[in-house]
Amino acid sequence: MLLSGQVAIVTGAGRGIGRAIARALATEGAAVMVTARTESEVRLVAGEISKAGGRATALAADVAHEAECEKIVNAARAAFGGIHILVNNAGIYGPVQPAEQITPREWDQVMAINLRSAFLLSRLVLPEMYARGAGNILNISSTAAKAAYQWNSPYAASKAALLGLTRTLAAEAARHGVRVNAICPGPVAETKMSEELRRGLASQSGADEATISQQMSLGTLQGRPQTAEEIAAAALFLVSSRASAITGQTLNVDGGSVFY
Ligand code: NDP
Repeated sequence: MLLSGQVAIVTGAGRGIGRAIARALATEGAAVMVTARTESEVRLVAGEISKAGGRATALAADVAHEAECEKIVNAARAAFGGIHILVNNAGIYGPVQPAEQITPREWDQVMAINLRSAFLLSRLVLPEMYARGAGNILNISSTAAKAAYQWNSPYAASKAALLGLTRTLAAEAARHGVRVNAICPGPVAETKMSEELRRGLASQSGADEATISQQMSLGTLQGRPQTAEEIAAAALFLVSSRASAITGQTLNVDGGSVFY
């Protein structure tokens, strides 16, 4: 198995892409800390992993708060020992509104969850990874970091900044044996975030949700949304030794929609 003996923290793992990543890493032998705010969801995912013969523990925590990030890292260490893999996946889309209608408070909330949490958690696990001379951090960004869509200024800014953080951490960590990469998923239509986004876009634009879904799919070369499992397969590759020479990179898993 690709990840036997390793311990992974996956944030936002209660549903959607994070759930698929947690399950994929567990299938390859990693013990997984499944964390998000909704306790029932994280427990369910940890239960699914255990039932399938894997190792997982669950913790309800809000990554917008430094003390809760510490709780996540401490709980993972208490359950499984050291941490080898951190997947910063927790995220919200935030308001689907033009910039001038977004409040500073809404802006700060998106930044805290999508960007600051990746910094907070990384700074907690990097010393241990450096001491070991090995480790992996994977940040889940978005094609919104690279494209120009309307009505997502805090989201796009947070996801673009996450790519900057990815490169800086990769530069600092590379000679300590630690790799840091990012994935930019395209539209993963099945998740709660995507459902909320479709609703928000429909109310802003006046188009119906089916038309919006179709437009999103047609914006990719493949003409279809991505699945959470397709994002998870890329995540598994990047945190495994199969990607041993890859660091500071962003992998677009988007059916062909952005090209840099
Ligand atoms: P979901 O809404 O299905 O899942 C988001 C996860 O993040 C949930 O488990 C949620 O749980 C958790 N989360 C949100 N806020 C916090 C918080 N403050 N603290 C801890 N956990 C939190 O969305 P997706 O699976 O679609 O999104 C996962 C990631 O993928 C996000 O970073 C998103 O930006 C990115 N992405 C998604 C795309 C898509 O099309 N779906 C496209 C590109 C990128 P809870 O609310 O219980 O805390």
